Amino acid sequence: MTTLPANLSSRYDVVIIGSGVGGMCSAALLANAGYRVLVAEKLQLLGGRFSTHRFKDDYLLNTGGNVYCSNRYFYQVLQEVGLPQAPLLEPEIPLKYRFGGRDVIMPQRGGLKTIIREMARSAEEAERVTSMVYDALQGNEPPDNLTLEEWIAQCTDNQLIRGFFWAIAANLSSAGANEMPAGTAIHTMKNSPSFPYGWVKGGVITLHHMLASAIEGRGGAIVKGAKAVEITASNGRVDGVVFDVEGRSVEVQAQVVISNIPPRDTVALVGEDRFAPEYLAEMRRTLRPAAGMEVIFVSEKKLFDFDGCICFLPMVETRRLGQIEMMNQLDRSLSPPGVYYYLTLQIVEPGSHENVDRELERRLVLEDLREQVPEFERECEVLTVRLYHKSRPIMNTIPGFVIDPQSPLPNLFFCGDASVPRGFSGSDGCARNAQIVAGLIKERFAPAA
Ligand SMILES: Cc1cc2nc3c(=O)[nH]c(=O)nc-3n(C[C@H](O)[C@H](O)[C@H](O)COP(=O)(O)OP(=O)(O)OC[C@H]3O[C@@H](n4cnc5c(N)ncnc54)[C@H](O)[C@@H]3O)c2cc1C
Repeated sequence: MTTLPANLSSRYDVVIIGSGVGGMCSAALLANAGYRVLVAEKLQLLGGRFSTHRFKDDYLLNTGGNVYCSNRYFYQVLQEVGLPQAPLLEPEIPLKYRFGGRDVIMPQRGGLKTIIREMARSAEEAERVTSMVYDALQGNEPPDNLTLEEWIAQCTDNQLIRGFFWAIAANLSSAGANEMPAGTAIHTMKNSPSFPYGWVKGGVITLHHMLASAIEGRGGAIVKGAKAVEITASNGRVDGVVFDVEGRSVEVQAQVVISNIPPRDTVALVGEDRFAPEYLAEMRRTLRPAAGMEVIFVSEKKLFDFDGCICFLPMVETRRLGQIEMMNQLDRSLSPPGVYYYLTLQIVEPGSHENVDRELERRLVLEDLREQVPEFERECEVLTVRLYHKSRPIMNTIPGFVIDPQSPLPNLFFCGDASVPRGFSGSDGCARNAQIVAGLIKERFAPAA
């Protein structure tokens, strides 16, 4: 083993593998509580799938998610560690739904009711569907052995309303409505209101720079370009992590290890033989990663008359297209002058995560874009098409199929979107998960004196 870079030690209270939202939030919370933490990230960029990188010199693009809910758990973490709110750009009209050839604004209060009423074929149908949905949201949740699609079909055969619930499932987790357990979907809808939301000025990497300042300001360390290659263990506990840093093997001891990388990769780093076969089988059965595709296209013409996001009805009115976000109509610093860029997000064939037909999915979404954006063929250039799947999915699992953040080894924790609590998903779920993991560590392990 060689030694660590000069500013690092060989022993920490808590070593965090990965600098995604879960990793950075848990590191900030623990550093704030007096633990000596090390965050080790294999890339040169912080933030994982919720970050911002430079593309073709002139663009700042997301590495995954980019919508930030400004009053929820991510913000709570910032507050807990003494940071201010992130600099936010909130669109005046955040959300519209397109169906039946028109665009309907989703109001920030009573949005579900408004959209369902607009889609319903009669006042009686609107009343029936809204009562069922609001009754469920108020606590009478449907069972999880029904999918969201099966549950809504009990109340209506209206194809627009069916499509609306496909859009909701896609927005919550990139899952199909035929995959998401109904009870968990409703719980997640209740827990993850769409509003208020916005874009962080300069991209969501700004959030990670803020967290990094809190971590380092309290004596924690962050090292980029450090890939964990082994989690060492003995006597049923983890002892530390071996990193590959520029081709050198570096070992760090830790009282506790938090893994912000997918649970299956974490198990591989520890060695499968250290886990009971039943636990591994259960993990394999449970986790269901969600794949998705994204198209980023640019135009010199402003294509939409509002600054938020427009949602479609995937699998019902569009082949795949779920939403188009007006990425930089508000933040002009993200692109070269005079250029607007737009980002689509869409599900892929549900259940095809391990085996996505990239060409087919690309063709389907481009057909959708030609239909939905009249100027697409004439005015727009596709900057990039990205498929998120396999080891880099939209989410490491869909809501309802998560694993416990406490691993079978008492001082090894999972933190990230595979172990968020019921009713959470995405970046905010990871922030909530980080609060829980930090809480467990504070209860069970004291920082070294
Ligand atoms: C296209 C897309 C759109 C999305 N849209 C939204 C949205 O609008 N809102 C929302 O809330 N969520 C959204 N999400 C989901 C959200 O981005 C993720 O749920 C969240 O960012 C996952 O964070 P995480 O804590 O699991 O860590 P990850 O982001 O998975 O980060 C893990 C980190 O670990 C590092 N790493 C991996 N292996 C190693 C190793 N061996 N050693 C060291 N480091 C390692 C990785 O490089 C990475 O930086 C979206 C995701 C995608 C992909």
